Amino acid sequence: MQQKRQIRLKMTKEKYLAQILKCPVCSKNGFTFEDGRTECASCGFKINKVNSALNFISAKESIEFSIIATDNVSANTSNGYIGYPAFDHVVSRGGWVLDCGAGSKQFTHPQLVQTEIAAYANIDILAVNQKLPFADDSFDLVISFDVLEHVNDPFISAEELKRVLKPGGILIADIPFLQAEHGYPHHYFNATRQGFLRLFEGLHVLTHFVPIAGQPIESLRQTMRHYNHHLPEQWRGRFLNLTVHEFIHREYNDWMHDPIVQFLKTEGRWEIASTTHGYLRKPSKELTTESVAVDFDASQIGESDTIFEDFELRTVSEQDLAKIAITKNKVSESEVPLTRKQHLILGIRHFAQLLPTPIKELLKKFRF
Ligand SMILES: [Zn+2]
Repeated sequence: MQQKRQIRLKMTKEKYLAQILKCPVCSKNGFTFEDGRTECASCGFKINKVNSALNFISAKESIEFSIIATDNVSANTSNGYIGYPAFDHVVSRGGWVLDCGAGSKQFTHPQLVQTEIAAYANIDILAVNQKLPFADDSFDLVISFDVLEHVNDPFISAEELKRVLKPGGILIADIPFLQAEHGYPHHYFNATRQGFLRLFEGLHVLTHFVPIAGQPIESLRQTMRHYNHHLPEQWRGRFLNLTVHEFIHREYNDWMHDPIVQFLKTEGRWEIASTTHGYLRKPSKELTTESVAVDFDASQIGESDTIFEDFELRTVSEQDLAKIAITKNKVSESEVPLTRKQHLILGIRHFAQLLPTPIKELLKKFRF
């Protein structure tokens, strides 16, 4: 056992990769690294390099997974895995670590394999999360930080993370819950706590918690910042001077008359929407009975951009605002789609309910 451990510690990353890399063509494990060439040991398929990374993303996959040339994929300045004792635990015992979707880091390690879809200096393998080019049971520790919200099928990606993890190995993951839309390549799904656990079903949960960087105050702060950023300049003062008390106690329908709701820019509306709403049609086929809805005219359905036109408040003046704030809504709720404003109010309301009474009183005076 001791001898085996020493042999593993001496193994270079290249030698380990030669054993565990999985061929995208013949699906067999094992590659040769000779004279600067990396080839499948079974079928001879060659893997090219981009910078120092072996490129396992085919042209077909680039299209399938919407990958475009960029250097803007999670370009963060993280310095490695300080604060993650599992990393030290595993590498000090000669184990192997995979950071799947590592981003740009000033950190490498001889027993750490970093994958990404952009060839940063720290990246060993270019690969998509839905198709990892590694043999089953290859890594003692698999890390996936802020990645699964960006893959088009998080369940397939999670299965891949589980597949390449050795029996007894550890997976460390974090996935946003109440976070604004962000980041290339795409931001598809956020996860509730149940969603997180559903993704990793089959693994034994050692611990699952809200980290310091994920405190609810950050959800509120981020939403507020986005909201302010996407308001036209002239309405920001009004937004910034609202009190938490007003946010919590003003009725949702009354907000719909407010210029900070009407004039929020479209991009901001999407980034922090409480919910989105769509009409979709199943394509028609020959030789089938079509739905009576086939000739339904969808052109009359209002978009979130135009839904407010009925209010005729596009030219509202500052002087009218006091009246507007208490005007009763004349439009039925079914005509108004749920908006990020409702999301904002509900979020703050939930947050405030969790606070002790003296802090609730203090918050009433506090202005964002
Ligand atoms: Zn092959």
